[in-house]
Amino acid sequence: MLITLSFTLSALLLHGVNARCRSQPGQPGFPAAQDWATLNETVEGRLLAVVPSAKACVDVGCTPEQWSSAFYRDALPGQMTNYQWEQNYTSSPPELCLYNETSSCSQGNVPVYAINATSPQHLQAGVLFASQHDIRVAVKSSGHDYLGRSTARDSLLLWTQYFRDIEFANSFTVGDEDKGSVVTVGSGVNLQALYQAGKAVDKMIVAGSAATVSAGGGYTQGAGHSVFSPVYGLAADNTLQYEIVLANGSFVTANEVSNANLFWALRGGGAGSWGVITSITMRTYPAFPATLHSAYITFNSTNQAAEAMTIHAQHIFDLDVYRAGQYFNLYNTGVAGQESILWLRTYFANVSGDEAQTAVAPFITDVQAIGATLINQTVETVVANDIVANSDDTGGYNIVLASRLIPETQYRQNTSAIGAAYKTLLDQGILAILGNLVAGGKVAENANISSAILPKWRTAKTHIILPATWNDTVSPSDAVALQERFFSQNVPVLAAATGEDDSGAYSNEDNVLEPDFKTTFFGPNYDRLLSIKARYDPDDLFIVRAGVGSERWDVESGMCTI
Ligand SMILES: Cc1cc2nc3c(=O)[nH]c(=O)nc-3n(C[C@H](O)[C@H](O)[C@H](O)COP(=O)(O)OP(=O)(O)OC[C@H]3O[C@@H](n4cnc5c(N)ncnc54)[C@H](O)[C@@H]3O)c2cc1C
Repeated sequence: MLITLSFTLSALLLHGVNARCRSQPGQPGFPAAQDWATLNETVEGRLLAVVPSAKACVDVGCTPEQWSSAFYRDALPGQMTNYQWEQNYTSSPPELCLYNETSSCSQGNVPVYAINATSPQHLQAGVLFASQHDIRVAVKSSGHDYLGRSTARDSLLLWTQYFRDIEFANSFTVGDEDKGSVVTVGSGVNLQALYQAGKAVDKMIVAGSAATVSAGGGYTQGAGHSVFSPVYGLAADNTLQYEIVLANGSFVTANEVSNANLFWALRGGGAGSWGVITSITMRTYPAFPATLHSAYITFNSTNQAAEAMTIHAQHIFDLDVYRAGQYFNLYNTGVAGQESILWLRTYFANVSGDEAQTAVAPFITDVQAIGATLINQTVETVVANDIVANSDDTGGYNIVLASRLIPETQYRQNTSAIGAAYKTLLDQGILAILGNLVAGGKVAENANISSAILPKWRTAKTHIILPATWNDTVSPSDAVALQERFFSQNVPVLAAATGEDDSGAYSNEDNVLEPDFKTTFFGPNYDRLLSIKARYDPDDLFIVRAGVGSERWDVESGMCTI
C-alpha cells in the first residue's frame, strides 16, 4: 500500500496530474503470480523469469570467452550485447549486475519475464496480456541494439531469437507482381546463418557485417546497410514483406498491397515501434565472387592522420566505377610514433584481386607520400557470402555510439572539412572513428522507393561512427557523465563535417541523447510515421527511446507519459 502510494505521488510530481503510468511491480494493476502462471500455460510453458546476463553467466559457470561471445550470449534472454543497457545507472541507488561482482545483483533494466516465443500465437498472447494489465513490453531478437531499445525494466520481454526458419523461393508474388527470387527468414535468424544458407543455394542477400545481428529484427527497421549497398541498395530497399503481430493482437502481413502504410513505416521508420515481427521476406541475388582488399596504415601524428583522411575523402570517388563498399576505421592509439592506425577494408563485387589493388593504389601512394607507413595489404577473392560477416561479435562490455551521414556533396566540395573534423576528434582523444562507405550508387538510385528511409541516406556518401567505452570500475554517475561528455563534445564536431544544420544519422547506430531525434533519424517522414503509429499502436504499447511517439513518454523509464 505504502509502495503504491509513494509511486503514485512521485508519478504525479514528476509527470503531472494527467500522466498515464503503466503498471509496475507492487502496484495493484500489476499481474499477480496466478496471472503469470496462466500466461505461461497459454504460451505452452515458454514464459521465463529473466535475470541479468552476469547472473546467468555465474549460475551456469560460463567462461570469459563465452561471456564476450555474442553467439553464446544470444541464448540468454536477459542479455544485451552492450551490457550497460542491463544496468540502471540513474536509479537511487543504482541497480547493477556486473560481471565481476555478482554477489549483489539487481534486476536493473532487465525485463521481469520473457516469452521465449516460437509461434505468432505466443506473441499474440503476450501482447494481449501486456495490454490487459497495462504493463510495459520490450521486444528483442539478438539484443545488439546500440540504443538499448530491446530491454526495459519491469517489462514483459517478447523474445524472438528462436524464430529460425529460412526458406528460399525462386518467385514471390505481391499483388499481381512477381518480385523474383527471395528468402523468407524468421526474426531470430542471424546474418551469419543467413549468408551460409544462401551460399548453399548460390544466393546472396544484402546484409551487414555482424554475425549475430538478426536480419528480421531491428536491422531493416533502421535501414540496414551493407558493404554491398552501393551495388544493391539498403537492406530495407530489398525487403518485400513482413509478418508481424500488432498491438491489438492481430497477426498480419505488411507489403506493398496489404497494410501498405505499415510496410512503408517498417522500412526505415525506426526499430521497435510497430509490433513484433515474426518473419521478413528479402530479395536475393545470384551468389557472386567478391574481393576484399585489406590494408593497415599507420600515422605518426594526428596532423598526418587528419591529412591522410582528407586524402581519403578526395579519393573516395576512385571506387565509384566498381561500386565498392569500404570500412575505413581509424584507431587513436596515442602511442608515440604511431599515433593512429587506419584499417582499410574495401569490398568489390565481381572484381579481380589485381583490379581491386589497382583501385586502392592511388590512395595508398598519396598517403605514403605524406609519410604514412603501409604496414601490410592483402587481397582475397571468395564467394561474397563468406566475406562480409564476422565469425562472432563481441558482447558483455559497455559501449555507446554516435554517428552522422556525410553527404556526397561534402566529398565533392569540402574534403578539408572532413579532414578537419578528424583532426579535432583525434585531438579530443576519441577512441576511434569508424568509417562506412555504404551509400551512394544504388542507395542513391533507390531514392524513388516509397519508404520511411531517412532521405539523407539517398544523398549520403558515408556513414561515420564514433564509439565511447568504459569499464565496470567506472562509477554509475561517472559512466553517465562520460556519455554526456562524449555526446556534447564529439558529436558537434562530426555534425559540422556534414556541412548541414539538420544533419542526419542512422538510427540503429547513433545515440539516445540525440536532442532532436525526430529530425536526425526521421526527417520529413516523422509526421506520417506518427499518424501510422496512431493507427497501428494507438495506446503506445511499443515505445522505445528516440522512437516514434517516444516524445510523449518519460524517456528513461518509458513508464509514464509526460
Ligand atoms: C557488431 C555489430 C555490427 C553491426 N553491423 C551492422 C551493419 O553492418 N549494418 C547495419 O545496418 N547495422 C549494423 N549493426 C546495427 C544493427 O543494425 C542494430 O544493432 C539492430 O538494431 C540490431 O537488430 P537486432 O534485432 O539484431 O537487435 P535487438 O537488440 O534484438 O533489437 C534492436 C531493435 O529492434 C527491435 N526488434 C528486435 N526484434 C524485433 C522483432 N522481432 N520485431 C520487432 N522489433 C524487433 C528491438 O525492439 C530494438 O528496438 C551492427 C550492430 C552490431 C552490434
